[in-house]
Amino acid sequence: MKYQRPKGTNDIIPGESEKWQQIEETARKVFQKYRYQEIRTPIFENFEVFSRTSGETSDIVTKEMYDFYDKGERHITLRPEGTAGVVRAYVENKLYGPEIPRPFKTYYMGPMFRYERPQSGRLRQFHQIGVEAFGVDSPALDVEVIAMAMNLLNDLGIKQVKLTLNTLGDQATRQAYHQALVDYLTPYAAELSKDSQTRLKKNPLRVLDSKDPHDQEIVAAAPQIVDYLTPAAQEHFAAVQQLLTDLKLPFELDATMVRGLDYYNHTIFEIMSNSTAFAGKWTTVCAGGRYNGLVEQLGGPEVPGIGFGLGVERLLLILAAEKYQQWQAAPLDVYVVGIGAETNSAALKLVQAIRQAGFTADRDYLQRKPKSQFKTASRLKAKYTLIIGESELASQTAKLKQMATGTEKTVSLTDVFQNFAKIWQQFE
Ligand code: ATP
Ligand code: MG
Repeated sequence: MKYQRPKGTNDIIPGESEKWQQIEETARKVFQKYRYQEIRTPIFENFEVFSRTSGETSDIVTKEMYDFYDKGERHITLRPEGTAGVVRAYVENKLYGPEIPRPFKTYYMGPMFRYERPQSGRLRQFHQIGVEAFGVDSPALDVEVIAMAMNLLNDLGIKQVKLTLNTLGDQATRQAYHQALVDYLTPYAAELSKDSQTRLKKNPLRVLDSKDPHDQEIVAAAPQIVDYLTPAAQEHFAAVQQLLTDLKLPFELDATMVRGLDYYNHTIFEIMSNSTAFAGKWTTVCAGGRYNGLVEQLGGPEVPGIGFGLGVERLLLILAAEKYQQWQAAPLDVYVVGIGAETNSAALKLVQAIRQAGFTADRDYLQRKPKSQFKTASRLKAKYTLIIGESELASQTAKLKQMATGTEKTVSLTDVFQNFAKIWQQFE
């Protein structure tokens, strides 16, 4: 019996995990500058948290949820996205309280689960880094959230992206547009894909999001939501565009963009890449928008919100295609070479003392010949080797060798045990 990881999942093994840490660290630094604080919510939630918010006809709810009944007959879902859980936590922990400054700004990172057909950049367990900001309706916040996403991509060395923008307006906009869309699509009803026929009945806006080529042809000539915006929605969208321009953030308008989740309104955006990682096809790495109304939908007060989610696997695909060079391998400061079984205890004490002095240290545990220990040291790119053999042990010394120059120095064991930092400084 051979065990394999479940289809659509990845093992993030050493060599890869450092990249993840670096991305996460960069994200934390960017978010800190914008004063977003981390939130950690459960990886599973009650089914309704997602079914009520993502939308009855969304791909997520109709096809992609990992849901099951637990031993207490509770209907549970592995989170397919971050926002609904964060909003649930926001409401449950009363983070809208008067003593909490607005906007309440928070970020998360972690695995999400969707039952999809696995392919490059599309997994069943994937990872998102996301942010949410609650309590402020101002277009300036929309723009800051977008700017922060661009800032993050830029700090990660990704420059070849485009920002696309649309608005879904407010409720009155949606109602007016809904009717126009139904009027337009109904004559084509028989030609639409099965999924879109259902969508037309339950949520016609979803038809715009169809990936079926013939649906897309029909949709191309559909009425556009921008023509149905209420004055207030129009004003919000105009302000967002103006502020983006003021920040010199270029964007493209995409009138057919609706996003995969039902809770959005007003500003929605996607940051796309046509990297060779996606065979040059424009692919979304980061997506988000406003969701005024979602907090109420999950039982909270009337508090607006906005956020985005960024797919880490897709980010890594772009970085790999661009042959990103800035990955930082953890350095090895000292490799202790012990020659002869009797040096075992001294070697152990040495690595421990070096680590306690704040340096990274490793050693040989297999009593290998000096030659193969040195080979390991250079394969691990050790800056120094600290060599201890029979004669050194007798004189309570060791040889410290700088690998780059080959320079060697005899040091006393006591000095290493007591103050390795000083020895290091004198050598450097
Ligand atoms: P798509 O149209 O590609 O299915 P989506 O609209 O379902 O995307 P969102 O729900 O907006 O995606 O998720 C935000 C980001 O998370 C995406 O832009 C992508 O980078 C990433 N993402 C979504 N689903 C997956 C997945 N199954 N595997 C890997 N990354 C994903
Ligand atoms: Mg999807």
